[in-house]
Amino acid sequence: MATGIVLGINANLVKVKFKGAVRQNEIAYLQCLDGDLKIATRLKSEVIRIKMDIAEVQVFEDTKGLKPNDPVEFTGELLSVELGPGLLGQVFDGLQNPLELLAKETGFFTPRGFELPKLEKTKKWCYQPTSKLGDKLTAGEALGKVKENAFDHLIMIPFALKAHWEIAWLAEAGDYDLTEVVAKIKNSEGMTKDLTLVTSWPVKWPIAAFKERLKPNTPLTTQIRLVDSLFPICKGGTYAIPGPFGAGKTVLQQLTSRFAQVDIVIIAACGERANEVVETIKEFPKLIDPQTGKSLMERTIIICNTSSMPVAARESSVYTAVTLAEYYRQMGLDVLLLADSTSRWAQALRERSGRLEEIPGEEAFPAYLESVIASFYERAGLVELKNGKQGSVTIGGTVSPAGGNFEEPVTKATLKVVGAFHALSRERSDARKFPAIHPLESWTKYQGQLSKKQRDQAIGLLFRSSEIEQMMKVVGEEGTTLEDFWIYLKGELFDQIFVQQNAFDPVDTASPEVRQKYLFDLLTKVIACDFRVKDKEAARKIIQQIRQSLIDFNAIPWEEDQKISEQAEKIKGLLYKKEEAP
Ligand code: ADP
Ligand code: MG
Repeated sequence: MATGIVLGINANLVKVKFKGAVRQNEIAYLQCLDGDLKIATRLKSEVIRIKMDIAEVQVFEDTKGLKPNDPVEFTGELLSVELGPGLLGQVFDGLQNPLELLAKETGFFTPRGFELPKLEKTKKWCYQPTSKLGDKLTAGEALGKVKENAFDHLIMIPFALKAHWEIAWLAEAGDYDLTEVVAKIKNSEGMTKDLTLVTSWPVKWPIAAFKERLKPNTPLTTQIRLVDSLFPICKGGTYAIPGPFGAGKTVLQQLTSRFAQVDIVIIAACGERANEVVETIKEFPKLIDPQTGKSLMERTIIICNTSSMPVAARESSVYTAVTLAEYYRQMGLDVLLLADSTSRWAQALRERSGRLEEIPGEEAFPAYLESVIASFYERAGLVELKNGKQGSVTIGGTVSPAGGNFEEPVTKATLKVVGAFHALSRERSDARKFPAIHPLESWTKYQGQLSKKQRDQAIGLLFRSSEIEQMMKVVGEEGTTLEDFWIYLKGELFDQIFVQQNAFDPVDTASPEVRQKYLFDLLTKVIACDFRVKDKEAARKIIQQIRQSLIDFNAIPWEEDQKISEQAEKIKGLLYKKEEAP
C-alpha cells in the first residue's frame, strides 16, 4: 500500500505527498500525533484529487493538531459499506459507524479516530441455504437466507463478481455469525472464494446485479391524501420536497416514513440541526409500525450527520444511505429513501469545491452540481431481478432553498431530474394549512389512483377558488357574484377537508388509499351539487354544516364501516335539503 506525509492542511482538505499507487476515492488514514499524547489518532479520509505524487484528501473529522510531515497510510480500498444482516434498526453516521454503540463505548463526545465494527460480528443469525452443491449462480443471485426481523435477508453472490460461480461447499442450516464461512464458490478459471453472511460495496458505485430496469408504474401509497391523490409518487420513482425553513419538510418526511406502504425505510438526516435529529432518533423506536404492530425501527435504518458533524461526512451519508437501499432492493423489497436535506449536502460540495479552488458555477456551487444530483437520483428505480421478482428504491429528497426561493441551483438541478415535486409553501404553513404542500405549485409525472381528469378538475377548482379569493380581497364579497362565491366556498371546502390533513389526529393522520377515493367521490358530489340558495349568507351556512360533518367523517376510523356509511349518508342528505329551492 502507498504511504505518504502531510504537506499542507486547509481545514478538512489535506495535501499529501505519497509514494506508491493511489487511486481516486480510496481511503487513507492520517496519523495525527496530538500534543502530549504519544499515541497517534488515526483520522479517516478519502482521496478526492490526485496530481502527480500529490493526493488531496478530505478528512471526515476535525483536523485540529494535524501537522506537516505527519505520516499517512493509504488503504487501497474505496469508501465502502458493509452489507449483511443487522443493518435494520440501526442508527449510523455517514461512515456507517453504529452511533448507539459508539455512544455506549465512548460517552457523549466520541474521540476522533474512533472506529467500531460497522455490523455486530458475533451476533448469530439463523441461516438456511437455498441453493445446492453444483448450482451455478451469478452476482446478486441468492445462495441462502437468514431471517432479519420480518424479512428474508438474502445471502447473495457478491455483486462485483463476473460470470458464473459454482457452489463448491455449503454450510448446513444453523446459527452463524458474520465471521463464519457459509459457502465456498468457484468459477470456471478455478478461482475460489469463501462467503460469509456479510459483503462490502463501494458507496459511490450503484449496485446493479439485476436483470433490467423497469419504468415505475405502481403508485407508492404514503397515506397522505395530497400526495397520493393529487401528486402521486411511484415505487422506484423520485420526488423532491423543497420548502423554506419551518415549512414542514421534516414533519412530512417523518409522516411518510411511518405510513408509506413500503418494506423498508432509510432516513438520511443530513446536515440538519442536531436537536431535530436527536428527536427523530428518540421518537422512532417508540413508534409502532402500523403495518406490523412492532417497533417501526425494525424496518428502518437511520443515517445521520448533523450540522455539527464534519461537513465531509455529509456527502458520504447520502451515498451510504442509497447503497443500503440498493442492497435491500436486490432482495426483492420496496425501499424508500428519504434524504433530509439535500441542500446541506450540496453545501458540503460547495465548501469542498471552494477549497479545491475549482472553477465555480452558479452561486459558487461546483459546475458539476447538476450531474452529481442527477446521478444520485438515478440510483432510484424499479428493477426486475434475476429471479424474476421486482424490487424498488424510491428516493424523496428535501431541498431547503434560502428564503424559499426555488430559482436557486440546488432546487433547479433537482427539478430537472425528479418525477414529482411537492413544493412546501411558507404562505400555507404560516396559515397552518398542513401538510403545507402547495397544490398550485406542485406537480407529478406519475399516475396514481385518480384519473388525470379527476386531478385536473380538483386542482382547477382550487385554482379558480384562490383567484376568486384574491379578487374578493379587492372588490369585497358584495362585488362578487353568487356563482363565483360558490366556487370559492367549494374550493375552500375541498382544501380544508381533502388537501389538509391533521397529523395530530390519530385517524386523519394516515388515510388508506380506498378511503381517499371514497372521500374524493363524496366531495365530488358536494362540489357538483347545485344548492340553489338565494344569497351568500345561506350558501355559507350550508357549507359550514357540510364542513363540520366532513370533519367528523375524517375522524371516524375506517374499520368502523357502519359509522362511515352513516356519516356519508348524512352528508349526502345535506346536499338535497334544498330548503330554499325555487
Ligand atoms: P422544516 O423541516 O421544513 O424546517 P419542520 O418539519 O421542522 O420544518 O416543521 C416546522 C413546524 O411546523 C413543526 O414543528 C410543526 O409545529 C409544524 N408542522 C409541520 N408539519 C406539520 C403537520 N403536517 N401538521 C402539523 N404541524 C406541522
Ligand atoms: Mg427540517
